[in-house]
Parts: sequence; C-alpha cells; structure tokens
Amino acid sequence: MPQPMKFFTIGPVQMRPQTLAVASRQVPYFRTNDFSYIMKETDRMLKELMGTIQASRSIWLTASGTAAMEATVMNVFTPEDKVLVISGGTFGERFVDLCRIHHIPHNVLKLAEGEALQEGHLAPYDGEAFTGMLVNVHETSTGQLYDIHMLSDFCKANKMVLVVDAISSFLCDEFCMDQYGIDVAIISSQKGLCLSPGLSVVMLNEQVVETRIQSRQVQSLYFNFKEYIQNMTRGQTPFTPAVGILLEANEMLAYLCAKGLATHLSEIRERGVYFRRLLQSLPVDIPSFPLSNALTPVFFRTAIAERIFQTLKNEMGMMVNPTGGSRGICGIRVAHVGDLILEDYKALAEGISQCLVRFAEQGAMI
Ligand SMILES: *Cc1c(COP(=O)(O)O)cnc(C)c1O
Repeated sequence: MPQPMKFFTIGPVQMRPQTLAVASRQVPYFRTNDFSYIMKETDRMLKELMGTIQASRSIWLTASGTAAMEATVMNVFTPEDKVLVISGGTFGERFVDLCRIHHIPHNVLKLAEGEALQEGHLAPYDGEAFTGMLVNVHETSTGQLYDIHMLSDFCKANKMVLVVDAISSFLCDEFCMDQYGIDVAIISSQKGLCLSPGLSVVMLNEQVVETRIQSRQVQSLYFNFKEYIQNMTRGQTPFTPAVGILLEANEMLAYLCAKGLATHLSEIRERGVYFRRLLQSLPVDIPSFPLSNALTPVFFRTAIAERIFQTLKNEMGMMVNPTGGSRGICGIRVAHVGDLILEDYKALAEGISQCLVRFAEQGAMI
C-alpha cells in the first residue's frame, strides 16, 4: 500500500494525531478514583454533545455498534411489544434480524432501492398499536438520512418508544436527542467520534430507564443494562472497559466541546458539499434521496467500482468504502468524517477522474 494512506472510510476513519498520541500511551489500571473521575467527565461531555440532560443514563459497552444494537433490543423490548422497524438497507435489516432472534414482534417498513422515506410510508402503521420504533437515522449502507422530526412526531402521536441508531450520524448531522424526542440513542467509537473501534454507548432517557429497564429481567450477563447503570453512579463499568478508547474519547470530546459542535458540523457539511460539487463534472451519479453529511455515495455508470476501489487504494494511497447490495458493483462511498481537509477531497476527485480516463483509454465502458 502507498504510504501515507488517506482514509476516506466511514469507520475506522482518518484519526487525529492527538488521538493517535493517546492511543500510544500505557493503558492505566481503571478501578481507581482517578479513572472514575475521567469516566464521569467523559460521560458529561458526551451528554452535552448528544443534546441530552445529565439525568439520562449511558451504557458504556466494550463492543462494536452491532452489540449495542443487540443489547438495546434485549433490554428495551420484550415479546409483549410490537415494534416498527425502518429498513432501508443492511443496517435496518440488522434490526429486523435482532427482533427475530430475540422474539420481539415486529413489522418491517422496507424501502425499495433508492427510495426516499416519506410520511406516506408511515400512514399504514398509524393507530395500529405499535409500542416502539427501531431506526438507523442515517442508513450508512445507502447514505440516506431519514427525517427525524417526521419519525419523532409519528412516535409521539402513537405513544411509541423511539430507538435511534445514530452511529454514523452523531457528530456528522445535527443531532439533539431530547429536542428530537429520542428515547434511546446508540453511538459507536469508530464513526463520527473518529476513535479506535470497540467502544459503543447506548443513551437512555429517564423515562425509558424507569418504564422499561428497571423492571426487566434480561437473559444476559454482559448485556444487563441495570448493572451498567448501577456502576456508572460511581464512574465505573461492571466489566473491564476499553480503557484506552475511553481515554481517546475523553481527549476527543474535550476537543469538540472547546471547538463547538456547530463549527464541527459545518466543517463536515462543507466537505460533503465541496466533494459533491467536484463530482458534477464526472460521469457519476449521486442518489436523489436526502443524504447524511457523513458520506457521499458515488455510482459509476458501469460495473467498475471494484477496479476504482483497488486503483485508488493500491496506486493512489486513498481508501474509500466499497458499497454492498445489488448496485454495489457500480458504487463506492466516500466519508466526510475524520482528519481530512478540502484538498484531500480535491485529490480524491482528481484520482477518480484519472481512473475513469485511464479505464476508457484501455477500452472499458465508463
Ligand atoms: C457502523 C454501523 C453500525 C455498527 O457496525 P459495527 O461493525 O458493529 O460497529 C451500526 N449501525 C450503523 C448505522 C452503522 O453505520
């Protein structure tokens, strides 16, 4: 691989040198007052940036985002529930799988490829006694950002608990948990937070803790939220946490709080806008549904995505995300999170342009 490699991936992302510096240090022992203090400080900053009051309860899990999704389904819902799952891609399907595995009655609102989620999609489920909704507010597999206000209004009108996987949207798009009426939000370290993978957080508002968590007997040792809530009152977790990533998080959240969330979000947005404008002069397409600031899905007009991906990676030192699904052979995804600047996007657009010229010269349809 050419060095240095630039990561335009959605996670792990291009990390800041300050994060790498933290990651290179000795990991401390954690059952100490010193570590409890750091944990509480980290927790306070996270709640501030997520737009939730300090009384909300956070479950700091040493696990990837999918484990946080699974733990959430197990702790928040029971077979007495009736859950509506928004499925617009592979992450929506993951919630469907989790409901099936954990015997949670559910209906699936499935979007067709390229289809935008609209109010009309929800109408058939209105007044149908649903008790909860599971949604990935940014469906990372397609790049679609759902209208959280529309979903929140629907849940309020139907008295449903709103569970949002914000893993690839938090710190990329506007996200105000309390203001949006979100009851449970899930985030993960390797996406918008730009940290090492392995740490996830489930944020629960007070009402959910009271009505759905405290009274439950969860059939799991590691994923029993009550234990985490109890331990967190003293700034600890029931089991050894990802101490090193927690220290990365502490440094990152302090940096973001000092920088200001609005400034950060506008930087991410600007990269996306800039890159999408550069693409206008190339023979590529971008989906018409609303996009998250986190990434830009780029579709070529023929099945050259794999070749583009390999050439960018092996010859130009630029790593992008491949795309899954039936259109995957034509598409890549370019993330706008991470320690990158506008010039990096200019170089990437030029790199893609060079690939297209070269492939055409070699006789490929582009
Ligand atoms: C990345 C991601 C996840 C979690 O994936 P892991 O590989 O388990 O970390 C979940 N939901 C969304 C929307 C994501 O983008």
